[in-house]
Amino acid sequence: MRCKIFTLFALLLSSFSLSAEEAVIPSVVIGGGVGGGTSAIYLARAHFQPIVFEGAKPGGALAQSEDVENWPGILKIRGAELMEQIRSQAIAVGADIREEEVVSVDFSQRPFKIVTRKVDNPAEMKTYYAASCVIATGSKPNYLGVKGEEKYWGEGVSNCAICDGSLYRNKHVGIVGGGDSAVLEALYLSNIAKKVDLFVRKDFLRATDEARKKALLEQPNIEIHFNTEVEEVVGNDEGVTGVVLKDLGVFPLDGLFLAIGSTPNTVLFQGQLDLDPSGYIVLKEGQETSVPFVYAVGDAVDALDRQAVTAAGAGARAALAIQSKLSAQAPALIAAYREQKAMEKAIADNGSAAVIEISSVAQFENELKSGSPLVVDFYATWCGPCKRIAPALESSAKELSGKYKFLKVNVDTMQELMKNYRIRAMPTVLLINEQGGVEEKKVGEQEISELLSHLKADSK
Ligand code: NDP
Repeated sequence: MRCKIFTLFALLLSSFSLSAEEAVIPSVVIGGGVGGGTSAIYLARAHFQPIVFEGAKPGGALAQSEDVENWPGILKIRGAELMEQIRSQAIAVGADIREEEVVSVDFSQRPFKIVTRKVDNPAEMKTYYAASCVIATGSKPNYLGVKGEEKYWGEGVSNCAICDGSLYRNKHVGIVGGGDSAVLEALYLSNIAKKVDLFVRKDFLRATDEARKKALLEQPNIEIHFNTEVEEVVGNDEGVTGVVLKDLGVFPLDGLFLAIGSTPNTVLFQGQLDLDPSGYIVLKEGQETSVPFVYAVGDAVDALDRQAVTAAGAGARAALAIQSKLSAQAPALIAAYREQKAMEKAIADNGSAAVIEISSVAQFENELKSGSPLVVDFYATWCGPCKRIAPALESSAKELSGKYKFLKVNVDTMQELMKNYRIRAMPTVLLINEQGGVEEKKVGEQEISELLSHLKADSK
């Protein structure tokens, strides 16, 4: 088994020209919003062990949304709560979410090189290599930058008519912008609000959808104000009461929607991927970008829909495409990466006095060669006596630290070791000497307790 995995690992490294210290991660997700979170869930469930770099603003745009009422299956939920559920689900199924932000990528050759820095310690930088990548970095909405805008954000100022429009039934709202979003949102709000005023700073609509522009002009409760700029948002304790228009003064309103475009968070990918003139990532096939094995989802590619559910759908599509595209390489990649992680964990565990969980045969063989006498607990999660004896093993591991190393082997996941050592009952504890030979084999709580007592007495 060990030889086989190392052969795969070596083959993989040589095909990617990497050294053994640089594990190739099967899949990396950049961005921890709803699109990235969904990709992570799908990839983790397929055993791709994705690493997610969630960046400085975890949760993305969804975490900033007040009430979400269009997520299928949930009548109403706070955006931050929904995002936390997606994040927890990703972790529960095996995604490795890291509080790191990506500072550079190199997609010019595979494996892709990704450099990050810790969010809470920017001086700590790390380099990763990935066989595939999902970009889910989202976008930043554009702001007017006028007085009152920030103060009344969420209190009458919004940039999502589809999300917040229903709060303005039979009320009077304004929209700023002259693009397709502004036209779309004005039409949408005109079915909900009593009156919709559209403020366009130029003397024409930039929107390109002629049918919608015609519908806009024909809608009796929509009024378009060309050459009109909003200079200030005004309000009281209850929220927005109006706007100040340049040269025109106060204009009363119950709410103001911004439809002045957004800026995708794609600066990192300039020169690496094809971007459109506004900076959105151009897709070639499905969610795949101009670089094979690099996928992009959510608001970084989508200026149009910008919905949590569409980002989630795209995240799932990207993950499925990766599984299909990597299918031939996936078993070797996954096995090699798991092996590398087990080694790293073993090295980390070596420094502590706790009982070390064995997660690969190679890790176990390394422990055999470590020169320490070993106390190896073969256990099962469903075994009551195993649970009862576990605290005694943990405390003995601390007490006998430096003299014996304590390992535990889950017989359900490490069947090869169970067979090698002919384990027939749980719990069984083996005492293995420095040369790797079994000196004692104890079965059941009573025998194991006695062994632990002898070891402690002998070590005094
Ligand atoms: P756009 O960038 O196309 O339009 C932004 C609008 O906001 C412009 O009219 C712009 O004015 C105005 N604006 C920008 N900043 C300010 C400011 N500070 N004060 C006042 N006005 C401002 O963004 P959209 O979100 O509308 O569209 C993004 C992309 O998505 C476009 O390609 C669009 O075609 C597409 N889209 C397509 C839809 C469809 O159904 N086909 C629906 C929605 C979007 P100015 O013109 O003066 O620069």
